[in-house]
Order: sequence, then C-alpha cells, then structure tokens
Amino acid sequence: MGDENFLLRNSRHLLLKEFSESSIEVLLKSRILIVGAGGLGCPAALYLATAGVKNIRWVDPDKVEISNLPRQILFSEKDVNVPKVIVGKKMLNNIVPAVNVDAIEEKADETNLGKLISGCNIVLDCTDRFKTRHIINKYCVENKVPLVIGSAVGWSGQLMVVNSSEQNTACYACVFEENPEFTDDPCGAFGIFSPLVGTVGLLQAGEAIKTLLKINQTTGKLLLLNALSLNFDRINLTKNMNCNVCS
Ligand SMILES: [Zn+2]
Repeated sequence: MGDENFLLRNSRHLLLKEFSESSIEVLLKSRILIVGAGGLGCPAALYLATAGVKNIRWVDPDKVEISNLPRQILFSEKDVNVPKVIVGKKMLNNIVPAVNVDAIEEKADETNLGKLISGCNIVLDCTDRFKTRHIINKYCVENKVPLVIGSAVGWSGQLMVVNSSEQNTACYACVFEENPEFTDDPCGAFGIFSPLVGTVGLLQAGEAIKTLLKINQTTGKLLLLNALSLNFDRINLTKNMNCNVCS
C-alpha cells in the first residue's frame, strides 16, 4: 500500500487527537496473541486487523460447528468441520491482505503458553474456560505482558484489563480465586445472546489498541455488561496482597 493510501485508510483514526502516524506504526509493529477463535475472538481479530494490527498469533483447537455461526461471524456453513483458525486466517486475509496471521491449531495450556506468549506485546483471552483463563493470567503476569480478558454467558458479559507492569493493579486471580474443583469444560452448555458476545469481543479489541498506544488505560477495573437490562457497571478492583499469582 502506498503512503497516501495508508494515510487515507487510517484517516478517521488519525483525526482523533489521541492518534498520530506513530500510533499506526505501533499497531503495525505489534504482535497480538488471541487465545480463542469463537464468539469473542472472531470480532476481536477482525477489528484488530482492520485497525492496522499486522501480526496476529491466533490459537484455538476447535473446528467450526453449525451452532457457532450466529456468533462466530467469520465462519459460514461451508466451513463446518474445518479448523477455526484456518478459516479465520483466510477470512482476515481476504479483508486485509497485509495481515500476517500465525494460525495455531492447539489448545493453550501450561505446555505451550510460554512459547505462544513469547514475542507478543499483548494477549487477548477469548476463551470460555475458567481454568485456561487462570493459566493465561499467570503467564501474562509472570512475563509482564498486558492481558485483555473478555467473557460472556447468557445476557451477561465481563471485561477486564490486567497489566502487571503497572504497580498495585489487580490480576484476574486477585478478583476470581482459582477453585481446584473447576473443571475445564467450555461454557457451551449455557445459552448466549450473540450480539452481547460480539460487543465484548469488540471492546477487547478496543482495549488492546488503547493499551498498545497507552491511551487512557483501564487497568484495575472490571466492566460488567447486561444486554437484557442494558446496564453497564464498572467496578474498581483492588490488588489482593495475598494473591498467589501477582503478589
Ligand atoms: Zn493477583
């Protein structure tokens, strides 16, 4: 893309006073790890790629199922039984040919997270598993990589940014204690309002961009969204000085 087209493409972001040409350069040079290619990961990846994030490492072990289609907007009926990250990479490349997607068909866990996080500037947790979320939080805190956590079930969604390079801010384990009785089952047994999960995924993309550009960071707060009542509440979180992950 020529310089002129590059500036035109990004012109509406560049009109925001918080953005400059160097912001666009930061997005181009950043590498983002997205864990999960479901209802959160699909819209998050799409908005990050179109906003100019060039390097996306995308990990998910699952194949597309027909019940995914109302939320996982990069997939269509012909993609059923095809790995999600493979279809996702193809769709992102159709829309933004310059995006470089490293599609990894694996489940993120203790065996591979160190390698997956390596070289990444930020992580998006777009999984639907409590245990995996705790493991991702631990690796991000240990490696001082910012983490944007999203979740949605039923009509309720949550959003939280963990950034352990900022002092005295809470990590996920400060707020949600790990329960060894938690199984790692996905939340697939519950209903989910599809526009809500899309909204949370887009907010994750937004917080990731803001964190990378150091724009008005929202670390240490938990956003609770209810799509039925349309209540949005923001809770200030305090670091747990006895947290066995970050303290
Ligand atoms: Zn903590």
